[in-house]
Amino acid sequence: DPDTDLAPLEFAVTRNLAAKNAAEREEILANPGFGQKFTDHMVDICWSIRGGWHRPRVQPYGPIALDPAAAVLHYGQEIFEGIKAYRHADGSVHTFRPDQNGRRLQRSARRLALPELPVQYFIQSLRELIAVDGSWVPSGDDQSLYLRPFMFAKEAFLGVRPAQKVGYYLIASPAGAYFSGGVKPVTIWLSEDYARAGKGGTGAAKTGGNYAASLLPQSEAYENGCDQVVFLDADRNVEELGGMNVVFVYKDGTIVTPQSPSILEGITRDSILQLAKDRGHKVEAREVSLQEWRDGVASGDIVEVFACGTAAVVTPIGALKSAEFIDEQPIGELALSLREELTDIQYGRREDKHGWLVRL
Ligand code: PMP
Repeated sequence: DPDTDLAPLEFAVTRNLAAKNAAEREEILANPGFGQKFTDHMVDICWSIRGGWHRPRVQPYGPIALDPAAAVLHYGQEIFEGIKAYRHADGSVHTFRPDQNGRRLQRSARRLALPELPVQYFIQSLRELIAVDGSWVPSGDDQSLYLRPFMFAKEAFLGVRPAQKVGYYLIASPAGAYFSGGVKPVTIWLSEDYARAGKGGTGAAKTGGNYAASLLPQSEAYENGCDQVVFLDADRNVEELGGMNVVFVYKDGTIVTPQSPSILEGITRDSILQLAKDRGHKVEAREVSLQEWRDGVASGDIVEVFACGTAAVVTPIGALKSAEFIDEQPIGELALSLREELTDIQYGRREDKHGWLVRL
């Protein structure tokens, strides 16, 4: 890895004088919700075509001043990541496979013509923020500090070309148990009218535009009494949900997940598949058509379907609904058992055989 020999950045730290006091913070951590409350500080690193990565800072959390002509506001040149910090019983704070998120941010950057932040700087940015805001990592069951790294084009220029001035930021938001009433199977809406990505498009990148494009189909899902949307490709192969990957469990124990150049390669999915392999399951990443899904459920060949991602970890899919049909999905034990194994590793309750945890 060419990144690993870089000298660490020297962050200038400006403390937030209006930081929440311990009582205010504890009140938020008692009931954090998701993505609504933010810690006292944020990280910011500048990039320019002439100066490279420079001016690394930890500063008070607050508004970012942007020129109205900043390219991101016009052409959406933006990428982001999502990763969590977990508090272990001994008080230490760990994150999960940050090298994978760092690499994925680099792949997204390449597709969006943004500069690639070295993975080493990415991981350092997580450490710098936890160094000042570590007390924001909650310790309750299934709680975590959700870390949101992002990067966007800051240059004030209305020409359509890669920006020559970019900012990388990191903010953090305490997160409670995603499912307050325990993990319940979700109902999925099959989007027939809208696609999330196309061949050669940006589907594999974690870029804002993909999520903007998913909002209208997501409201269609709500109107039809569903929780989430599943997207197909132009050949009616299954892609993914708006923010989670899909996994199918077959009767013979084989686990299948869609392989496609236009989906986001989830780190939760990769980890779950590894844990399944460790248990002796056969694992396949390949095309899965909607027909195979529907036929498999009808014949009993498919015994479980679930979605996975950082925010909600693993969620069983209870039904697939479209304008034409509702297919009830079989519910099994594997999704929840893999979920438990993964979260046990993340929270330090079980041996981390793969060396996935990184102490912050
Ligand atoms: N697909 C999409 C579109 C997503 O936004 C996410 C969340 N990052 C995932 C899949 C799952 O990825 P991960 O397991 O790395 O969170």
